[in-house]
Amino acid sequence: MSLKANNPSRKTWLDVPDNTDFPIQNIPFGVFLTRDDIITIGTRIGDFAIDLGALHQLGYFKDIPLTDDIFLQDTLNDFIADGRKTWRSVRNRVAELFDVNTDELKSNEKDKETVLFTLDEIEMQMPVQVGDYTDFYSSKEHATNVGKMFRDPENALLPNWLHAPIGYHGRSSSIVPSGIPIHRPQGQKLPKGSDEPIFGPTRQLDFELEMAFITTDSNLLGEPIPVEDAESYIFGMVLFNDWSARDLQKWEYVPLGPFLGKNFGCSVSPWIVTLDALEPFRVEGPKPIKKLLPYLQTTDKKSFDINLSVSIKPENTDEMVITKSNFKYMYWSMSQQLAHHTVNGCPVNSGDMMASGTISGSTPDSYGSMLELSWGGSKTVKLNGGEERRYIEDNDTVTLRGYCQNHEVRIGFGEVSTKILPVFKL
Ligand code: CA
Repeated sequence: MSLKANNPSRKTWLDVPDNTDFPIQNIPFGVFLTRDDIITIGTRIGDFAIDLGALHQLGYFKDIPLTDDIFLQDTLNDFIADGRKTWRSVRNRVAELFDVNTDELKSNEKDKETVLFTLDEIEMQMPVQVGDYTDFYSSKEHATNVGKMFRDPENALLPNWLHAPIGYHGRSSSIVPSGIPIHRPQGQKLPKGSDEPIFGPTRQLDFELEMAFITTDSNLLGEPIPVEDAESYIFGMVLFNDWSARDLQKWEYVPLGPFLGKNFGCSVSPWIVTLDALEPFRVEGPKPIKKLLPYLQTTDKKSFDINLSVSIKPENTDEMVITKSNFKYMYWSMSQQLAHHTVNGCPVNSGDMMASGTISGSTPDSYGSMLELSWGGSKTVKLNGGEERRYIEDNDTVTLRGYCQNHEVRIGFGEVSTKILPVFKL
């Protein structure tokens, strides 16, 4: 099916701000609570949220085979499980309905009133119920930097890293949408020079600049997904902040890996941008350094050129961008990640979330965590108002943003913004 929704010359009859992340070519999917306290599935054009449940009830999707309640859900899981043909049909139809040359909805004031919301009339929810969450570790620059600091500068990258996308199974219960604050976690940590741990709030609270992809029902138990088919099981992507407590992490991570230093919170942007909408921004990823085993070998361009940034806003000053990176720096592609994840027969379901791992570039101004920006806390990062940070402080707000841009169109993800609250008193 053609991606008519991507037509870069299409204009909409809605009033859309210049340089919006959400032009009519984007048409992401999300879940929101309306002014009438109803949860619905919707999309966004410019600064309007569009109620897809209401549009469907009014008959605007009558030519697409959809169940009556497909959009009257608390999550996108069922819609995603319907598969790529459905996602494409709905995106194409939304593009047509809001096209400046289509009169159907444009001239129906009553229906417009029903389906359109301004952003201050809605509250974004988690877009999917995340069944399983996996976090990869796929930026070579990040893995190298962490290896240098946590282990051995001479052998920073472990031998397996260049042969397989390394990852771990995370915790889905603490994944929250943008705007939900997170308490500073507490736990065990080992003071410098001591061999006995102490208990207390983390002093090394960190963000991780990541993106995540959301899958549809992909495979049955025992069946691997071939790397060249993997993208057909990827619905779309969000910005993903994998909150980390470095002091807890350092004490606990040997031998089984991340646990309480990681599972207290992850924050995601609420609009899932489809892989289809990102099609014009396809690029080649880094060339493999080692010859890959056949199940990980790919031919076409499997990465995407997505500009990423992180800003910190202390309580009483303006926010400041502290790093800029790009999704295309990822050594392992999403296709390779999904092929590797399933090669042993592990099933992947609709609404599963797979995070990229921290996306660092090669230069210090493109590092994707405070651990790297402050080089293990050995130097400070300057903020507006004369403040400095080694890690994240209470009442700081951390915001990740991401967008793609070429000479014709900008496709963005909006933001994921999270305030850190003081530790929860025991
Ligand atoms: Ca991570």
